[in-house]
Amino acid sequence: MIITIKAKTPKSELKKLIIKLEGLGFNITKNDHANKVMVNVFGDTTTIDDNAILAFLFVESVTRISAPYKRVNRDIFKEDVIVNVNGILIGNKQPIAIIAGPCSVESEESLNMIAASIKKSGAKLLRGGAFKPRTSPYAFQGLGVAGIDLLKKANQKYNLPIVSEISAASQIELFEANVDILQVGARNMQNFELLKALGKTSKPILLKRGFANTIEEWLMSAEYIVSAGNPNVILCERGIRTFETYTRNTLDLSVIPIIKQKSNLPIIVDPSHATGDWRLVEKMAMAAIVAGADGLMIEVHDNPEMALSDGAQSLTLENFDKLMVECRKMAKAIEREI
Ligand code: PEP
Ligand code: MN
Repeated sequence: MIITIKAKTPKSELKKLIIKLEGLGFNITKNDHANKVMVNVFGDTTTIDDNAILAFLFVESVTRISAPYKRVNRDIFKEDVIVNVNGILIGNKQPIAIIAGPCSVESEESLNMIAASIKKSGAKLLRGGAFKPRTSPYAFQGLGVAGIDLLKKANQKYNLPIVSEISAASQIELFEANVDILQVGARNMQNFELLKALGKTSKPILLKRGFANTIEEWLMSAEYIVSAGNPNVILCERGIRTFETYTRNTLDLSVIPIIKQKSNLPIIVDPSHATGDWRLVEKMAMAAIVAGADGLMIEVHDNPEMALSDGAQSLTLENFDKLMVECRKMAKAIEREI
């Protein structure tokens, strides 16, 4: 970290800052540049809050040389994290993991029909929301515990590991017993108490990117989980909010190679929430594969027109099967399996 001090700062003031930093255990060197003093701070600067330094009136700027995250930092950990979900490996160079299923679990009959069909098409994991984070309090909120029970039953029947969204730390026990990947939704990406609690479980966590969050903020959220003790984090890009209105969100595909550069965590893509339109899902899924995604999460429904949530972006069983055919071709072209 480099701290630039304003010109003409009294030496006594500069000393106060240096004493503070040395007191925290950092090694400090100084050099003069264009009438200004530059203070170089050596050590693990992830624990320094930039704003605490900027609080010193004579500090002009704070420049970080290394990222504020370390446990999920590629510069520090070269080896890719491969997350093991009941024997299915998700991560770099592993087969591209396809997660599919309804936005919300609605009924046993519908869930079973979807599970049987996506399995036949080649999906490896079943998704389904039971505790739904809806914008309107009047919209369908999910079946709750009953939905989790139905997912567990489908898991036993079809041998598909389950992915479902956890919305509060109080649900951890229920999820640990029944769910294979605990999804943190976009709206909860910065629910730090939830992230800390999930750091204490050993279950894989699917951390969705908040729709208004930077890549650095996203990685800092992953850092919360990993630093609390759970290394099994999978990132999920699900679109960010931009000025564009023809899509529900804007799919940030560039994030995939950026994450691969900056972090050692696996990353998957959810083209359903990213576009909000089932007609766009297949093409975006194919693009995500070519961009290097380690998996996809796709919303599928046996009758999208009657779905209780996100019907407009849900694929029919037939269209999901077609998506799988196209995605297999893409995977083959980049020498990866599905
Ligand atoms: C979902 O996966 O159903 C969901 C609500 O996603 P997001 O948190 O990305 O909006
Ligand atoms: Mn949804």
